[in-house]
Amino acid sequence: MNQSVAHEDLESLLKWYVDQGIDEVIGEEAVDRFAAPPPPAAPVPIVQKAAAPTPIRPAPPVPAAAPRGPVPIESPQLVEDARVLARRCNTVAELEAAVRAFEGCALKRTAKNTVFADGVVGSPVMVVGEAPGADEDRLGKPFVGVSGQLMDRMFEAIGMSRERDLYITNILFWRPPGNRTPTLAEQAICMAFTRRHIELARPKVLVLAGGTAAKSVLDTTEGIMRLRGKWTNLALDDGSIVPTLPTFHPAYLLRTPASKRQSWFDLLSLDKKLRELGIR
Ligand code: URA
Repeated sequence: MNQSVAHEDLESLLKWYVDQGIDEVIGEEAVDRFAAPPPPAAPVPIVQKAAAPTPIRPAPPVPAAAPRGPVPIESPQLVEDARVLARRCNTVAELEAAVRAFEGCALKRTAKNTVFADGVVGSPVMVVGEAPGADEDRLGKPFVGVSGQLMDRMFEAIGMSRERDLYITNILFWRPPGNRTPTLAEQAICMAFTRRHIELARPKVLVLAGGTAAKSVLDTTEGIMRLRGKWTNLALDDGSIVPTLPTFHPAYLLRTPASKRQSWFDLLSLDKKLRELGIR
């Protein structure tokens, strides 16, 4: 096998892993959990004399997830430009106009439409996904394809709809070609607008759909498998704090229906939080 073929194979295997939601490494060695279990241990002889108590050692501290660190960007000026433009906006409508006029993200050149948001501005719940897909790019609205339809049905299950109770956006306003994962540079440029978007929409609660959105908004290297279902407080630049719940992306649930159970717990947790906040 020549080198370039092996490299492509590895790359497509990695992409497949990420598509399946396997976006973090938890061990150096693969464990074959289908292998036959080890033979049962020989019975332990009963000892009459009490053994000396084993000293209890404290568990080693779990290292906190690292922030993502500086993003390799061709032009850090693009991020700064986006920040300056976003900071100047005082309403969601102004921000939408600024995003539509912005030419600093290369994805805009290959996209058909700018996909800004859908639902009701000022809703108690704001949902932030990853990026528009083909349907969203064509129609100019987030989450209108099959995964968006699943998301609608999930929120309906707790009595919420985008026509009444939700405000929906993505961390990217333009479709990445071929639906590839957005680069860190693309994320950083759009994140300047997204953070201001959250400040101006003032949701009571933020839901992050999928690992890319969760990592980007929370600025963490932690994967969605660890983040999902755990509430965290997002601190914004205007001093506001928004309770935030990362959850699985609906596209992941379409590929992995067994994970819907965990998403249902997340929805129940959202419902509970809204009741605690006196919103429902
Ligand atoms: N996936 C997303 O993350 N956002 C969309 O708008 C559609 C699919």
